[in-house]
Amino acid sequence: MDTQRRNQYLEAIGVDVWVRRRGGVLADLRLVADAVDVQAAPAQNPAPAESPVLAESPAAAFSIARAPAEPPSGDAAARWEALRTEVTGCTKCSLHTTRTQGVLGVGPQRTDWMVIGEAPGAEEDRRGEPFVGRGGQLLDAMLRAIGLSRATNVYIANVLKSRPPGNRDPKPDEVTACLPYLMRQIALLKPRLMIAVGRIAAQNLLSTDLPLGRLRGKVHRFGELNTPLIVTYHPAYLLRTPADKRKAWEDLKFARSVFRQLTDGVPIDGDRS
Ligand code: URA
Repeated sequence: MDTQRRNQYLEAIGVDVWVRRRGGVLADLRLVADAVDVQAAPAQNPAPAESPVLAESPAAAFSIARAPAEPPSGDAAARWEALRTEVTGCTKCSLHTTRTQGVLGVGPQRTDWMVIGEAPGAEEDRRGEPFVGRGGQLLDAMLRAIGLSRATNVYIANVLKSRPPGNRDPKPDEVTACLPYLMRQIALLKPRLMIAVGRIAAQNLLSTDLPLGRLRGKVHRFGELNTPLIVTYHPAYLLRTPADKRKAWEDLKFARSVFRQLTDGVPIDGDRS
């Protein structure tokens, strides 16, 4: 990815950017610590005249995801379609009485990366697509910074497909009713790496009560395929707590390095520390 563009993405997210000055010395320019407006791409605090470059980790040189070799087979495409129809009109729990529509997911039907959140909010419920509100814009900006986009190489879904009224936490019986849809999505997609955003998604996927802070920084395993799963903050939390965006950026870099180990076929280093 073009260095300047990545700098802009990171600045928009609000994470500090480490740059290499002319003499090769690394310096933390602390570009913008509190930017929230993810639409605002132009730098408010442009790089100095010598035009430092973002210190590229070796990982930056590899391809972040395999391009899908071909669209899903007719059979898989039909299963995706059936799933979408079922989810859109699902009545398995009482949430269908208050929501507008069930929201399946968004992204290519063959891709290596999958992001899983909690449940649709008001905007997602209205538009039928996950993460399209303010938090979704931040999520997109964060993913873009590691070369991922819902248009090309990451699939985004939620644990719950229907919006809980007032955005309350999902109830256990709602999760139980809805999880089979997510399992079918995962079985169709067969992602190589999953990212759970937020406590609710992480705890439900990993069947644990551990707090999010204890779940970050490790490679967990999910399901029968033992898919590597990494946990990070929910974008809505990051909008409320911008100081933690830096930690979320650490999580994404960790995910990127794990993906690289996967594609290189080397044993995964399961712990960031
Ligand atoms: N929060 C989520 O967890 N998912 C969405 O789709 C929107 C907001």
